[in-house]
Amino acid sequence: MNYYVMTLFPEMIENGMHTSIIGRAIERGCLSLSTVNIRDYSVTGNGRIDDYPYGGGAGMVMQAEPVYRAYEALAGRLGRRPRLIYLTPQGRVFDQGMAVSFAVEQELVFLCGHYEGVDERVLDEIVTDFVSIGDYVLTGGELAAMVMMDAISRMVPGVLSNQESGQYESFQDGLLEYPQYSRPEEWRGRLVPPVLLSGHHGKVGRWRRDQSLLRTLKSRPELLEKAELDRYDRDYLQRLARGEAGAVTPEEQSFLAKLLAISEKA
Ligand code: SAM
Repeated sequence: MNYYVMTLFPEMIENGMHTSIIGRAIERGCLSLSTVNIRDYSVTGNGRIDDYPYGGGAGMVMQAEPVYRAYEALAGRLGRRPRLIYLTPQGRVFDQGMAVSFAVEQELVFLCGHYEGVDERVLDEIVTDFVSIGDYVLTGGELAAMVMMDAISRMVPGVLSNQESGQYESFQDGLLEYPQYSRPEEWRGRLVPPVLLSGHHGKVGRWRRDQSLLRTLKSRPELLEKAELDRYDRDYLQRLARGEAGAVTPEEQSFLAKLLAISEKA
């Protein structure tokens, strides 16, 4: 995977991406990262790339031409026009499924906006994907681009030392991940759940699945509506709904009752 980031603050991207797992993957050549400083394509030649918004209002707007030139110069160097993602709070909200689908690309270009954003005309001309990282407004697209690159990179073969750890994570099967424990067996009076010490793989697997279901119910119940549930899952959720398998609130019980009634009919 080769990443190209069009930005006004290349040092932010360079500093953020050359550390830890992603930094090592870049060193090993599993990933590459280049930044394109949009200021280098200023039409006034003095590095200025923004101007006042037509129609008035607060803030400045990144001009169309420098952004266009920056992308065209990159596409010219590469000899093709890779997918261009504009980071914007108005885009489709990024999720794990999108990370998986972007990870199959050979190249991705990210366009980081600043100030009030980018002149709409150049976005219409060159952008292929409009992506948001959540319903809040950042000062610039750099952190959003780094969030996306981090999540996408984990799905690129060879980036994680143990590919397994990329496969059984939250969202991978539509549920949140089960809780994790490490040594010591007792920490400040809190014990590791005994089943994890049993060495019984079947029981450990079932306990983890049940915990995933319980966590998802507690934190992100809407995910359960889309998750694929087998008869063991439904059995556990039935017991939860009846208050027999863990602490659930009356609201969670009635949510489960509806969910199970629906999935029974389906
Ligand atoms: N005026 C814009 C609007 O209301 O949609 C917001 C501009 S924001 C202050 C500046 C830049 O930060 C945007 O152009 C975008 O690149 C980036 N940005 C802000 N919030 C974002 C989000 N939630 N996801 C992705 N990028 C974001």
